[in-house]
Amino acid sequence: MTETQITSEVDFDAGGKQTGYLRVPHSIHRSAYGWVAVPITVIRKGDGPTLVISAGVHGDEYEGQIAVANLARQLGSDQIRGRLILLPTVNAPAAEAGNRVSPIDDGNLNRLYPGDPKGTPSQMIAHYHEEVILPLADYAVDLHSGGSSLIYPATLLRGPGHSPEEETGLKALTEAFDLPYTWVFTGGGGSNSTARTAMGAANRKGVINVMAELGGAGCVTGDVLRQTERGLHRILHVLGMLPDHSPDATQGTRRVHAKGSIFAYEAGLFEPLKEIGEEVARGEVVALIHHPETPERAPDEVASPCQGMVLAMRAMAQTRRGDALFQIASDAD
Ligand SMILES: [Zn+2]
Repeated sequence: MTETQITSEVDFDAGGKQTGYLRVPHSIHRSAYGWVAVPITVIRKGDGPTLVISAGVHGDEYEGQIAVANLARQLGSDQIRGRLILLPTVNAPAAEAGNRVSPIDDGNLNRLYPGDPKGTPSQMIAHYHEEVILPLADYAVDLHSGGSSLIYPATLLRGPGHSPEEETGLKALTEAFDLPYTWVFTGGGGSNSTARTAMGAANRKGVINVMAELGGAGCVTGDVLRQTERGLHRILHVLGMLPDHSPDATQGTRRVHAKGSIFAYEAGLFEPLKEIGEEVARGEVVALIHHPETPERAPDEVASPCQGMVLAMRAMAQTRRGDALFQIASDAD
């Protein structure tokens, strides 16, 4: 932890509300002593848990970035009990570029944990997130979306829970977020996690944590943004950190397990024959891949290798071999 080269403009131990930047040293031609600025807000008052809410681990996933920045702007220390750490754009260069990966080092942050304190800017950010910020936390929420290439309905993702305490905490976070879908991982997680993700980092630090996939297609919808903000307020309330909030009635969630993805084997233009939430039979044709550059060539049919429900789908028409077209899930219970 002490070996990090990142310095913080905020004091994690101070009371009140502070907003500043994590300074990630980045010495380049146009800025010899320059740094990459990762925005951070810390709000602390009285006794209570520490919650870290992060977004922009992938730069082209926007609902979370907006929702976390809104919290940073709207909440004051008078409303908060405990410590709230807000990171609206964790991989700030990627967010600035509207890219999944950072344009300055090609870093896909959610494949880089536990990072490297002396590595590239993305590796340094991963290390700081895992070794400095997450050890402060009792709870963490990491917000994603389908990004530019995929579309998800508002979906919470959570691990299996390795102890009664973790299971109770995960259940509370899941019910509070109250998104239409909950994707429950059947394995992994825990303190021995080897995942290169922010969720893996939180698990290694013993932080009770969930993540969410919130829309995608490189855009923002008001509906998903409202579900995100509602859920974050409800989480703060259920943790006792936003005591004056009055949560509305729970709407309930559909618990699913992911069964697998359906991939393209031919390049061309993807025509989905199924929508999110629709049922799919094994062997059913779920997509066509068109070849308008060769008009006499019939489109290729893509059949589903499994039975289930469409949880996520590709947002881009142009498709190459190896691209995921659909993610299929089935009911968990
Ligand atoms: Zn993501």
